[in-house]
Amino acid sequence: MIGTDVSKASKLLTQGELVAIPTETVYGLAANALDATAVAKIYTAKQRPSFNPLIVHVSDTDQVLNYVSDFSLLAQQLAKAFWPGSLTILMPKNDKVPDLVTAGLPNVALRVPNHPLTLQLLKSLAFPLAAPSANVSNTVSPTTAHRVEQNLGNVVHYILDGGKCDVGVESTIVSVIDNQITLLREGGISKEQIEEELGIEISTKAEEKIMAPGQLKKHYATRKPLFLVDDIQDALLRHQAEKVSVLLFESIPTTENYIPYLLSSDYDLSEIANNLFEMMHFADEDDGEFILAARCKNEGIGRAINDRLTRASVR
Ligand code: AMP
Ligand code: MG
Repeated sequence: MIGTDVSKASKLLTQGELVAIPTETVYGLAANALDATAVAKIYTAKQRPSFNPLIVHVSDTDQVLNYVSDFSLLAQQLAKAFWPGSLTILMPKNDKVPDLVTAGLPNVALRVPNHPLTLQLLKSLAFPLAAPSANVSNTVSPTTAHRVEQNLGNVVHYILDGGKCDVGVESTIVSVIDNQITLLREGGISKEQIEEELGIEISTKAEEKIMAPGQLKKHYATRKPLFLVDDIQDALLRHQAEKVSVLLFESIPTTENYIPYLLSSDYDLSEIANNLFEMMHFADEDDGEFILAARCKNEGIGRAINDRLTRASVR
């Protein structure tokens, strides 16, 4: 059931049930993060492997100390600069956080989401919310309540409808451990923004070392094959004989036999991110044989867009 009743969502979560929640990145599938039984329902509903840890959402920065053993100055600076917002910070967890939430890892991923309805919900609760994206593992993340219903409607009791997500791609994840900051996943806050805030260059962790699907190579997949190309016009010329669904980042003048999805008319990266997953869903549903998309500019949120497209693509 879809609705905007925060107190209903609050009641269900308090009873240990799952509720889908809107955030500015994508919709989340939420449960009481301090209740391992409730958290286990997330893994089951999403068919998520138990080695893939969950992000914990808190109502404000003051809550962090309840769940970490070290809220370093560096982490505090990032929280002050970017929360509420799409930056997730990994910090050493304390005993209050069940091992299931962190998949047995010593660090917990925390963030204050920037969505009015979910902030209202979090403030009404006596516990934080563990919430990965509200989709079955390895499928495209939802940016509308309708997509959550389509994907998980049979297992989630209530979907809190907060409209279309503003940012449209998942949060950026950094770890801040022993005063070392490492970028683990590109997302809504760009690497440049973080580097500008801190005045230092940050390193990116080699993918092989990480064993969580948010960082696995194949993820966010459409059911149809998605091919990622460098030159979309050239690719369209080569596939003139086929019916192809195409993700476009700007208007292009052609009359070929394809089904276009215009994510932005003028290559606006925020707009492309905002439309990305919903257009991937649409392209997956039409009668094109496969999906074509171009790599976009590898800067700012463009890197997160390329990351998601690469993981969704056939290689
Ligand atoms: P999702 O919310 O579906 O985007 O997934 C959350 C992602 O956060 C996971 O796939 C991991 O990549 C990352 N994550 C969450 N908690 C941890 C942790 N304790 N250690 C490392 N990565 C984490
Ligand atoms: Mg996910």
